[in-house]
Amino acid sequence: MIRRDIIDLLTVTPGKKFKLKDQNPGWKQSEEFADFGKEALKEKAKEVLEKNLEDLAGAQDLLYADGRYSVLIVLQAMDAAGKDGTIKHVMSGVNPQGCQVFSFKKPSTEELQHNFLWRYSKCLPERGRIGIFNRSYYEDVLVVKVHPELLGRQLPREKEKLGKKFWAKRYEDINAFERHLTRNGTVVLKFFLNVSKEEQKARFVERLSRPEKYWKFSTSDLTERGFWNDYMAAYEDALAATSTKWAPWHVVPADYKWITRAVVADIITTAIHGLELRYPQVSEEQQKLLEEARIKLAAE
Ligand code: AMP
Ligand code: MG
Repeated sequence: MIRRDIIDLLTVTPGKKFKLKDQNPGWKQSEEFADFGKEALKEKAKEVLEKNLEDLAGAQDLLYADGRYSVLIVLQAMDAAGKDGTIKHVMSGVNPQGCQVFSFKKPSTEELQHNFLWRYSKCLPERGRIGIFNRSYYEDVLVVKVHPELLGRQLPREKEKLGKKFWAKRYEDINAFERHLTRNGTVVLKFFLNVSKEEQKARFVERLSRPEKYWKFSTSDLTERGFWNDYMAAYEDALAATSTKWAPWHVVPADYKWITRAVVADIITTAIHGLELRYPQVSEEQQKLLEEARIKLAAE
């Protein structure tokens, strides 16, 4: 397990000022890490990941059997920060029956005809399941804030302006939505994979130089990179406004995949363990029936 104080360093404290530039996308999160050294840290991270992957499989089994809670994992990031790889690695050991992944793209015309949370509500995990949102309703205060023309028919009413207040209301709606979910048994875990602009460039270059990776690159990725500063400002505002006691944000360093995966796996496993789950109790009457069935089978 990763120490609580280290996780705290990566958690946006509700109600406190938050500056993205204070978060290191690399591996030197603290002096302690810097002293430790990169290779030693990498070894440690791999151990943590391995242990957590084992634990996660058991934790998920129990979540499913217990059947009272669900877990919603929200992944947000700039392109090439490693969302897909994180999902693939962190979820590699879990039972596919208990896990659902939804990737959200540009909304359809039908989706735009509804309130902005509609399409996400339909994909929420039922009790006993882990649901992963690869992008989420946060796009509606991120990419949409950077490109407000995407609002389409969701534009504010005429008298209202598309200013600070409009976005503040969306943050408020998101907080209320997540509060509703947590009150109803969904644990909401939110991760912003924090990749640096330099590392994004290196990953794009790699995608463009390996034919089997071409499909991962779209020319719009480069266009969006041009809006880097606007995105960072939108992330900073959104993370500060929507990190709550019931659903805090974790800013996960994403320049090194081994850190990203270890941190995400650790936070998910710790959260599920914190639920005090139990296998359903069998009543005396049921126990009798089970015993009878056992005897019948033995006599066959
Ligand atoms: P990818 O995840 O790389 O396949 O890209 C999906 C694209 O859909 C990204 O450019 C997102 O910004 C975009 N997208 C996701 N959700 C929304 C949304 N609510 N409004 C507009 N664009 C979105
Ligand atoms: Mg992409």
